[in-house]
Amino acid sequence: MKEVKAIVVGAAGRMGARLVHIIQETSLMRLVQAVDRPDHPLIGKDIGEVVGLGKLGIPLENELKKGGDVIINFTNPQASLESIAFAQKSGMAIVIGTTGLSPEQLNRVRELSKSTRCVFSPNMSVGVNVMFRIVQEVAQVLGPEYDIEIFEAHHRLKKDSPSGTAVKLGELIAKAIGRDFGKVGVYGRKGMVGERTKEEIGMQVIRAGDIVGEHTVLFGGIGERLEIIHRAHSRDNFARGAIRAALWVVNQPNGLYDMQDVLGLKG
Ligand code: NAD
Repeated sequence: MKEVKAIVVGAAGRMGARLVHIIQETSLMRLVQAVDRPDHPLIGKDIGEVVGLGKLGIPLENELKKGGDVIINFTNPQASLESIAFAQKSGMAIVIGTTGLSPEQLNRVRELSKSTRCVFSPNMSVGVNVMFRIVQEVAQVLGPEYDIEIFEAHHRLKKDSPSGTAVKLGELIAKAIGRDFGKVGVYGRKGMVGERTKEEIGMQVIRAGDIVGEHTVLFGGIGERLEIIHRAHSRDNFARGAIRAALWVVNQPNGLYDMQDVLGLKG
């Protein structure tokens, strides 16, 4: 099988560094370019040295060039939009793992994906994507007598809150039981908020230390509760999922896909 040529954007970041490491171990993929923001202090240095692998002969660059099959971007919303616009212009596929995109930015991704092969997922982990599927079924089976609460915990450096994954869990569960998460989502509680309504889906957030990522969906009934928990032990599960998505998306027609598509969990 032909090697897939990958470009990592955000290569000097936490996820970017893990991607560079895992691509080096992956015989089906080869790193051809590493990009970071124009004012990054390590621009021009060998990316292998930046991420602790030793010289790879690939410098950290400050702008995207043609020549790859797929871009993998874990950066910020603005830089992700720039990458998908570049992918669309140059005919490359793209995998975006960045979270925290606004509704307008998500619309732009949807628009550009009509003429680009794009996987966009706030969580590339295989376990979380299985969780996305089963929480919907559990919510349907348990029915309205069970209160639903979501909580997530991440490291102290995470900028957006709640996590994209927690929001997606809320949206999927709400939809599966005929509610609108925009209306029933309750973000934190403080003061005399009154009794919990039956319909609401609570969302609580923890930021502490170096927690890689934890998501819990709690279904609270009378006399019992059921919790579905996913814990990421390291960033490698996201990076491995992103690489799996990149190898998959290069062979798909134009369109916007998520990890459920990549893993064949839909339908
Ligand atoms: P990070 O801050 O360590 O890395 C981001 C990198 O992007 C930095 O090196 C930064 O310099 C670079 N960058 C910023 N602007 C840029 C630009 N214009 N062009 C190129 N590079 C640019 O952050 P991180 O922990 O690696 O996370 C990055 C994103 O990925 C966040 O949105 C995070 O929430 C998300 N994330 C998603 C998943 C998932 O599974 N989808 C998993 C982990 C993290």
